[in-house]
Amino acid sequence: MPELPEVEALALDLRGRLDGHAIAKIHVAQFSALKTFDPPLSAMEGTLVDDVSRHGKFLDIEASGVHLVLHLARAGWVRWRDEVPTIPPKPSPKSTLALRVVLDDGAGLDVTEAGTRKSLAAYVVRDPDDVPGIASLGPDPLTDDFTVDRFREILQREGGKQLKGVLRHQGTIAGIGNAYSDEILHAARMSPFKPAGHLTDDEVQVLYDALRSTLGAAVDRSRGLAASELKGEKKSHLAVHGRTGQPCPVCGDTVREVSFADSSLQYCPTCQTGGKPLADRRMSRLLK
Ligand SMILES: [Zn+2]
Repeated sequence: MPELPEVEALALDLRGRLDGHAIAKIHVAQFSALKTFDPPLSAMEGTLVDDVSRHGKFLDIEASGVHLVLHLARAGWVRWRDEVPTIPPKPSPKSTLALRVVLDDGAGLDVTEAGTRKSLAAYVVRDPDDVPGIASLGPDPLTDDFTVDRFREILQREGGKQLKGVLRHQGTIAGIGNAYSDEILHAARMSPFKPAGHLTDDEVQVLYDALRSTLGAAVDRSRGLAASELKGEKKSHLAVHGRTGQPCPVCGDTVREVSFADSSLQYCPTCQTGGKPLADRRMSRLLK
């Protein structure tokens, strides 16, 4: 799933490519992806692209006061094409194409979604805050006003909630998902199950530094990469996320996995939990 660093890089890449171009046509191939009907998609056709930006994990293409907002969800992606077919795509359950934006020079982008669980969402709005998931976003962790004091207030407010859940809850902090929350907690050497409100001032500072450096480094590495290169880039730099059974790059211990909410998380016992494996709560609940 693309998170803050990848969406930031996508926005930068597309900003350069779309700058000065008009949108000729937007084709919808997967109708369930389009969540709005007013203004219509045609409101963007024939208008110049003004900007491409990011809100949390949402990508925002703005043309003449209308915004095409995309949430790529778990398996969505944006693929740049120097030349897109001129005939409209046929909707097909076998195709991964959800949406196609055609530019005035014949280039364009395909918004795709792999897999069968279709959760990619596209919105056409006059104000990004008209998208419910954007209106409810917490602060962006890479902005200048996301200070350690602000972070401490957030953690204290969350009280007994576990760090893993707090970091990736979009209404609390914007843009961090399952992968980077694992990576940030590993960098901070903290248990994903540690209660947010119980951190000492020193621990808040450690977690804050880990958050800023992990996300900042990922954005720096992703900057300038084309959309097609971003996924591999992300994967090759993960220390624990998605690496169950492999050695921790810091200490060599085996990366472990435990279920969390609707998915699972990965962590290193030696680095993060005093060498003790975390109990799988879902499993123990099932066994009762
Ligand atoms: Zn380790």
